[in-house]
Amino acid sequence: MAEANVVFQMFKSLSDKEKETFLRLLGMPTELTEIIDSTDTEEFLAKHRFPNQEVCCVHCGLLDACKCGHTKSGHQRFRCKGCGKTFTYASRTIFNGAKKELDMYFQYIHCMMRGMTIRDSAKECHITKNNSFYLRHKILDALQEMQDKVRLDGIVEADETYFPISFKGNHSKSKTFVMPREAHKRGERAKKRGISKEKVCVACAVNRSGKSIANISNLGRPSVASISAVLGGRISPDSVLCTDKMNSYVPFAEHEGINVIQLKSNKRVDGMFNIQHINNYHSQLKKFMRIFNGVSTKYLPNYLAWNNLRNYAEGDKDFKESIWCKHNAEAVYDDSKWTYYQRPAIPLPLVA
Ligand SMILES: [Zn+2]
Repeated sequence: MAEANVVFQMFKSLSDKEKETFLRLLGMPTELTEIIDSTDTEEFLAKHRFPNQEVCCVHCGLLDACKCGHTKSGHQRFRCKGCGKTFTYASRTIFNGAKKELDMYFQYIHCMMRGMTIRDSAKECHITKNNSFYLRHKILDALQEMQDKVRLDGIVEADETYFPISFKGNHSKSKTFVMPREAHKRGERAKKRGISKEKVCVACAVNRSGKSIANISNLGRPSVASISAVLGGRISPDSVLCTDKMNSYVPFAEHEGINVIQLKSNKRVDGMFNIQHINNYHSQLKKFMRIFNGVSTKYLPNYLAWNNLRNYAEGDKDFKESIWCKHNAEAVYDDSKWTYYQRPAIPLPLVA
């Protein structure tokens, strides 16, 4: 990994032209630095969603679509020869029906990369606070797919952290939401001390190259099954898992066939096997979440993905911004504003 880091640092010091040459030598796409130069949404999607001008059906995936007139708003329409459905370059992406200029999206992603609040991003991008909220979650929903593909190898450290349950944002718009408990006054702590069912457990794992996985696993202390629901199949079997105390990560690792090193909590640093990185990850995550001043549990998975892809991903901020933009062009997105209200107040994974 050290060598890779040296190469990466050297890559960062190259000029744009040299970067392009280097990527071409590796046989990699060279357009990463050009992504943010696109100004037209249709052109941007055509280029990144359908590279090599091969338009495949966004409904069934068949590579046999023909041009079929234009929509009312003047966008190129296609018809699939297989399923017969029509679509545009933007169908089933976050750009579907978008009225704003592409620049605004890029600017919004730039705000997110800087960890800005909904209000500040709205101001910067000249949109309403409501639109800022939806845009943030649309972008993060699309990025979830990228986060779900993260796999960890090498020395991996795992431990859970807890967040108080928050039902913020569930009340006014939903006809079906019933408050499951008495509301806490602002700033009031959960009544039960320690780890109770009033807290959501977030299972986390991080490796030495700085990649991470985190998601809600359950309420209260986690079981092996709830940890598996988040981390199962995502840690390479030839990695070494470091974890502290007698907790559910030990039987989890055994079940997954991963070597596990258990560290006594009073002996935190033990040569190369330690849990410093996961402890740092937890404090960094809490610090990031404090910016947003109490996040609704409903949207916690999106914030976890945001933190991971912003702070625990390879590359500098410009590079990550390009990757985010490109991924937003590729990711399938079928939700609408209204489906946000239908989301469960506590998004727990399905536990086997
Ligand atoms: Zn089709």
